[in-house]
Amino acid sequence: LEQGVVPQAAPKSLEKVKHIILILSGKGGVGKSSVTTQTALTLVNKGFNVGVLDIDLTGPSLPRMFGVESKQVHQSVAGWVPVSVYNNNHNSNNDNNIKRGNLSLMSLGFLLGNRNNSVVWRGPKKTAMIRQFLKDVVWNGGDNDTPLDYLLIDTPPGTSDEHIAIAEELRWASPIDGAIIVTTPQDVATADVRKEINFCKKVNFDIIGVVENMSGFICPFCSECTNIFSSGGGSKLSQSLDLTFLGNIPIDPKFVEMIELQDNDTKKLIDLYDGCELKPIMEGI
Ligand code: ADP
Repeated sequence: LEQGVVPQAAPKSLEKVKHIILILSGKGGVGKSSVTTQTALTLVNKGFNVGVLDIDLTGPSLPRMFGVESKQVHQSVAGWVPVSVYNNNHNSNNDNNIKRGNLSLMSLGFLLGNRNNSVVWRGPKKTAMIRQFLKDVVWNGGDNDTPLDYLLIDTPPGTSDEHIAIAEELRWASPIDGAIIVTTPQDVATADVRKEINFCKKVNFDIIGVVENMSGFICPFCSECTNIFSSGGGSKLSQSLDLTFLGNIPIDPKFVEMIELQDNDTKKLIDLYDGCELKPIMEGI
């Protein structure tokens, strides 16, 4: 780990969070944010209070995927208040008597103003921002002061200074459960994925498991699954490295709909969950 001021205790903001899960990928574009979104929705639908922290400074896409792009974070005396994506008390479309949890999101995207503003910050400014994100967000699972059951952290691709800052800040956070590594079939064997694995070992993060995304395409007309790229690499990799394989997610046109979500389109967001391919994977978490 980097030399410097190493925190001696979990940041106050994270003290009450029951589980913290990092989502990692060796490179960009493999579906890390999509997997974060689907995992969050699945947990919310199971009744858990979930917070998502988007610190992928290379392209914060979660406000768009959650349909809250034009919302703003607010500063309170206690710290930054994340954007509420789904509030169980306020959303009346709680059909089928499902007891859903609350979902809130903190993303760098909210602070950028314009999503086309690329982040060109240098290392120290980036790591300072990440440390602040980890320390200064008031995660209370909605407005009823309920602590978060899960905090999912969407990290930048690869392993970088940002990851080291996260590792340092979370070092003393006892609820850290570990990392989910997302890969695609054509990337599983690459050094990028192994780097993620080595990083986790180095900073003592448990690896919850590996998800192989974009693994085949299910034809909407005949329901046949075509393995456009080779498939099965994720499970082989997991086996050879003694990691848990959480499952495959096929290429699913529903993911594209996520990007087209309008602001406050909670109903659509929840409907999209119905096409969620992560249901079997979640049994592993
Ligand atoms: P990352 O966070 O790794 O950069 P994203 O989650 O932003 O990747 O995904 C990149 C693009 O691929 C997005 O447009 C997303 O909608 C799409 N995508 C991701 N996973 C799938 C999938 N299983 N099926 C179809 N499209 C997907």
